Amino acid sequence: MPLKESEAIVLRSFPLGEGDRLVSFLDRQSGRLRGVARGARMPKSRFGSTLELLSYIRIWYFERESRDLVRINQCELIESFLDLQSDYQAGIYLALMSEITEAVLGEREVADPQFRLLLLAARAIRTSGPSPAILAYFSLWTVRLGGWLGSLDRCAQCGKAFGEEAGYASPGSSGLACTECREKWVKPISKVALSVGRVALSGTLERLLKANPSLSGSEEISSYALDILEHHMERKLIARQLLVTGKSGR
Ligand SMILES: [Zn+2]
Repeated sequence: MPLKESEAIVLRSFPLGEGDRLVSFLDRQSGRLRGVARGARMPKSRFGSTLELLSYIRIWYFERESRDLVRINQCELIESFLDLQSDYQAGIYLALMSEITEAVLGEREVADPQFRLLLLAARAIRTSGPSPAILAYFSLWTVRLGGWLGSLDRCAQCGKAFGEEAGYASPGSSGLACTECREKWVKPISKVALSVGRVALSGTLERLLKANPSLSGSEEISSYALDILEHHMERKLIARQLLVTGKSGR
């Protein structure tokens, strides 16, 4: 089998057997893959700290035709985000972004935009701290890349522009409804949250952060995007529950 070389981001890794690690990673060229790093838990392992959460690495691995798992031969660290984990909230953000990426991407589904989004968001957490705007940007763009995001500007049913009004979200519907079209039990998305979302989707993350968006608006639109992701994943995000607990405990 030929040795493949690529850039990758480590999504998760688990102990395997006596001293190995099972690693889930996003290969920039080939998409999400899983592989075994032999001896990675042994002292003086050649993998060092390359297999930590969201490590940006250069990776060499062997693909085996008959097996799902690749055999990881070597890794070189390009950029580590291990230091960010000393901050509780930043650690949860990284875990949540990794969990989302792993859940939304099919195995071997090429996903360069998701790769760049993940790296961009992790770097922004390093520069600006774990701002809710970063999570809002990451989750909204993930929903859009997945093809699940409706318009934040107008009603999905009658087409009326929200203008200064709130939109209404119902689980499983890809768009928002206006006051007239909404069902009774749906959740409102405030105009402030909608405006944070529009800025996030129309420009760069840097621009969104410079605009110093409303904290509650960022959290609200982020929560809307995470609800859509959970609906499509058909399960709750584990790290999201930690995020809520962490905040209420402050
Ligand atoms: Zn309507």
